[in-house]
Amino acid sequence: MYATELACIGCGRHYRLEALYNCPECGNILDVAYDYPRLKGDYEAGRISAGDFGPFLPLDEQAGVSVAPPPTPLIRAGRLAARLGVKKLLFKCEFLNPTGSFKDRPIAVAVAKAKEFGLGRVIIASSGNAAAAAAAYAGRGGLTGLVLVPEATPPEKIRQTAFYGATVVKVRGPYSNCFSLAKQAATELDYFNLTTTFINPYTVEGDKIIAHEIVRQAGEAPAQVFVPVGAGPLLVGLHKGFKECELLGMAAAVPQMVGVQATGCKPIAQAFSDGMTTVKAVKNPATIAGGICDGLYGYSQDGDYTLATIRRSDGYALAVADEDINEAMRLIAREEGLFVEPSGAVALAGLIQSLKNGQIAPDATSVVMLTGHGLKDMAAISQREVPVIDDDMEQLKRVMM
Ligand SMILES: [Zn+2]
Repeated sequence: MYATELACIGCGRHYRLEALYNCPECGNILDVAYDYPRLKGDYEAGRISAGDFGPFLPLDEQAGVSVAPPPTPLIRAGRLAARLGVKKLLFKCEFLNPTGSFKDRPIAVAVAKAKEFGLGRVIIASSGNAAAAAAAYAGRGGLTGLVLVPEATPPEKIRQTAFYGATVVKVRGPYSNCFSLAKQAATELDYFNLTTTFINPYTVEGDKIIAHEIVRQAGEAPAQVFVPVGAGPLLVGLHKGFKECELLGMAAAVPQMVGVQATGCKPIAQAFSDGMTTVKAVKNPATIAGGICDGLYGYSQDGDYTLATIRRSDGYALAVADEDINEAMRLIAREEGLFVEPSGAVALAGLIQSLKNGQIAPDATSVVMLTGHGLKDMAAISQREVPVIDDDMEQLKRVMM
């Protein structure tokens, strides 16, 4: 294993790779550190093959707990690129993971860690997608799962989660309420907390692998990557993965990371446009993009970390309106035949707004993250009246008019 320890991003203290959450000393986020010189040396000596992502994960291969999801497609969105006037537009189809969202990535790693630690019970606070992933992978790993979701979570996500066998509980109020209750329950009831903000340091390592896949599939790092952002672990994970690809000489440079939020929940985008380094939490956020409806209330330091990562990549953050998210969903479905939920279309809405703002070079390659499947939130799409007829050609002709 090349992972060496947990390093605090605030005070710099180091800890062993244990079941820790935030820094016991200062309360800040813990990041998994690696022995990169040894990793680079072994890669250059051919001891690690290209496409073997295991060395980039904090998992003990001796423990033999492999629950990694398969790679997802990176596809060229030719029709949409032509329509929008972009030279090369690529969709990373994370909605095609086994549970229908990118959350399979962080959860697979965290569940493997729970198994390594010998912990039999896992808990998560989630707006729905990580809930389903936690339930599914807990089942695969033979662990007991307890899932807390906001009361307003789409029924599809709740039913899917419960069907995998986990105990699901709805918590009144915004996502932040689930977050704090899960944190408390993990301590008092002795559960391993899988919550995919930055509380569990192992989850981001799963998100990281998506960047390695993109570089391998595209043959290079893109100029820009558009990412839907709630707290931002996906964006931070992607950035870490691209940095690793650069370090090992697989990519020439790290892409500009573009964090896209919804106007009804934009603490990070607001701080970016105000030129701030700290994020102000939003107490009662509201957007159709439930997967990123996270006001960071009580843990705004997560937003600070994402904001700093965006700036470190020379990227930017912006917010898009719910109408624009709806329009992006429609474009993805009608031009490319792909069905994503509102959160899954947020990144494309961000790219369209960036084009309007002149923030995209004409010959740049852009990757847009499509994060969640459309079947997970059916109430989000407007219902069209569908005619019913008999087995009768005349009736068919009439309804076709
Ligand atoms: Zn610390």
